[in-house]
Amino acid sequence: MLPDTTEVLIIGAGPTGMALSIVLHRAGVDHVLIDKLAQGLQTSRAGVIHAQTLETLEPLGVTQRLSELALKLQNFAIRDRNRALLKLDFSKLPSKHPYLMMLPQNLTEQVFAERIAALGGVIHRMVEAKAVIQDADGARVTGGREWPRETDIGTLCRWCRRHEQPGAQVDRHRVRRRGL
Ligand SMILES: Cc1cc2nc3c(=O)[nH]c(=O)nc-3n(C[C@H](O)[C@H](O)[C@H](O)COP(=O)(O)OP(=O)(O)OC[C@H]3O[C@@H](n4cnc5c(N)ncnc54)[C@H](O)[C@@H]3O)c2cc1C
Repeated sequence: MLPDTTEVLIIGAGPTGMALSIVLHRAGVDHVLIDKLAQGLQTSRAGVIHAQTLETLEPLGVTQRLSELALKLQNFAIRDRNRALLKLDFSKLPSKHPYLMMLPQNLTEQVFAERIAALGGVIHRMVEAKAVIQDADGARVTGGREWPRETDIGTLCRWCRRHEQPGAQVDRHRVRRRGL
């Protein structure tokens, strides 16, 4: 069930939103992660994770699992029949991960989702943010459930721009929801 209050609302459980959720979990920051889709896309999208990205992902605790599922390529070539047009050697990269990691994006997302679950987190699916309305002390997000029927759930959550409101009452804001 969608929590009534949150400090941070993450709209979208793609790789970016899920990575942010893992970071916030590890930092102990209260947040809610929503996505309008019933499940992650299974389509062909990103197929490569580069060394720099793997280093960035290391603190999130997903690199080992990604590594188990992926194909690691140290050499990459583009050829025109027998002629090599381009040859790239990743084995000499000054990185702990001197290779191209080949992994379909849906599997990357699956690993991120498993990590969120292991941290006790939830991806609230079929929840679409439809509008964000900012006022003096925060923002109000309205959303709707797409399935099985369109239902206005009213105000999804409200959080405070605490740093822009010196002296303002912060942390938790009343949330009004209806129709769930
Ligand atoms: C055909 C194709 C091929 C690609 N090939 C490559 C590639 O080879 N290499 C590469 O690096 N990248 C590739 N990409 C790009 C890669 O897929 C994106 O960079 C990556 O998915 C971006 O991640 P993201 O989390 O920022 O956004 P997304 O993956 O787009 O995730 C956004 C999420 O937000 C949700 N959402 C959106 N609006 C709302 C809302 N209002 N309320 C609730 N949820 C919402 C969506 O349902 C979605 O799950 C490709 C993309 C496509 C489409």
